[in-house]
Amino acid sequence: MPKMISHSWGNNKRTFAEHQTHFQIPNVAETIVNSHSSGVIPRGAGRSYGDQALVSDGLMISLTQQDNSMDLEVHNSGLVSVKGDMTIGELLDATMPLGWILPAIPGSQHITIGGALAADAHGKNHWHQSSIASCCQELNVMISDGTIIRCNREVENQLFWATIGGLGLTGLITSATLRLQRITGTSVQVQTRTYKNLSSLLKGFEDVTASEEYAVAWLDLLTSRQPGRGVVRSASIYHQGQTMAKPKRFNQIHIPKPRNLNVVLPPICRSHNNLKYLISSKARDLRVTSIQNYLFPLDRVRNWNHLYGKSGLIQWQFILPDKETSLLEEIIVGFRKTSALPALAVLKRCGEASESYLSFCSPGWTLAIDLPATQDSYRYINEYNSRIASAEGRVNLAKDSCVDADLLDKMYPKLAHWKTIQKRFDPQGIWQSDLSRRLLLCN
Ligand SMILES: Cc1cc2nc3c(=O)[nH]c(=O)nc-3n(C[C@H](O)[C@H](O)[C@H](O)COP(=O)(O)OP(=O)(O)OC[C@H]3O[C@@H](n4cnc5c(N)ncnc54)[C@H](O)[C@@H]3O)c2cc1C
Repeated sequence: MPKMISHSWGNNKRTFAEHQTHFQIPNVAETIVNSHSSGVIPRGAGRSYGDQALVSDGLMISLTQQDNSMDLEVHNSGLVSVKGDMTIGELLDATMPLGWILPAIPGSQHITIGGALAADAHGKNHWHQSSIASCCQELNVMISDGTIIRCNREVENQLFWATIGGLGLTGLITSATLRLQRITGTSVQVQTRTYKNLSSLLKGFEDVTASEEYAVAWLDLLTSRQPGRGVVRSASIYHQGQTMAKPKRFNQIHIPKPRNLNVVLPPICRSHNNLKYLISSKARDLRVTSIQNYLFPLDRVRNWNHLYGKSGLIQWQFILPDKETSLLEEIIVGFRKTSALPALAVLKRCGEASESYLSFCSPGWTLAIDLPATQDSYRYINEYNSRIASAEGRVNLAKDSCVDADLLDKMYPKLAHWKTIQKRFDPQGIWQSDLSRRLLLCN
């Protein structure tokens, strides 16, 4: 297969590499074993913002098993076995009509189960359900010699915990057994609350988490008077028996491929934020909508990443413990003094960390900011990453584009252990990505 240029979802990272998609597991094994490429990396839906699923001069490998949602059987206990390339959307479409839902759901239905597990993804209810690791019972992982190892909390548990959150660097997840949760409806009742400043928003968000299943906040980081004002949208399952409003359906908007288009400019973003804040502050009533509409707002705009033009975007997601809210505020207010443009900022509350060695979430606040990939943005991020590390926080490696490798031991205290396990299962260093090379993860 010829090499070609591939992009990250943020379009800020590109690579010249081979990409092979196989329909049969034995073909993947054969390809990996016989690969003469300098490095192989599993690739799911390619929705990671940075260089997690890219490998320069190497081979990106995808397993596309057909008829993913056919024959999906959910046991009475909620256990379901799924293929690694199944998407979150396919899983929900197949199980929600049967009354089952994945407890931890990331913010796009296009993400694959393999990709979500490799990122130990979290949803808008982390303080209730932790990350996807908490509902993963078992994995089948193809390691670098082509064999498939079954691993769980008892059997080969080190491979299990190194693979969840392991960014594809221990092997390819061919299938997983997940424990689903019962639901009594497929809609949610959404409440929208606006807050004039960050401190009232944090307080309001905490109050909401006591009673609601899901919550997420959008922050306006562009208003000069009250940076950090925002909107909390919380939701709980709408139970059968309550009179049900018709769920609103959204048509997908399509954004063309970037040429010289870049609409993410300060005046446009400011107007958008003012309008969004104003409209949200008028929203008084509870609204009933489908779970998907609530959980996947960005999926309504197909290829929204193209809005950032040719140079693309960076998503900077970090987490800070509660005692460090002053640093959170400082980061938010600090944008005033730079020309880095925090176009979109989303705040979530996190609870217990998972046991996976490279898991991102731990108790505290996590803020994900989308910025145009400019030098000013990189400078701003790097300026604060060391402060975040010193404050017992960390950046999300599943989304990162530029963290300094020297900060990782501080941010991820189990990194050295993860490296030992990774090496044990891949002694020849077959699995590599541009991220693993940049951060010296597999040396
Ligand atoms: C709009 C949007 C919303 C998002 N919301 C959230 C969110 O709410 N919470 C959250 O935690 N994350 C979120 N993410 C990030 C997303 O969960 C991760 O980037 C995820 O890894 C993407 O999965 P993918 O299938 O696109 O995989 P890719 O981008 O192709 O790969 C991502 C990583 O997973 C590895 N990988 C992929 N498939 C496999 C496999 N079968 N076996 C082993 N490794 C594999 C790759 O090697 C790579 O390291 C969001 C991303 C987007 C674009």
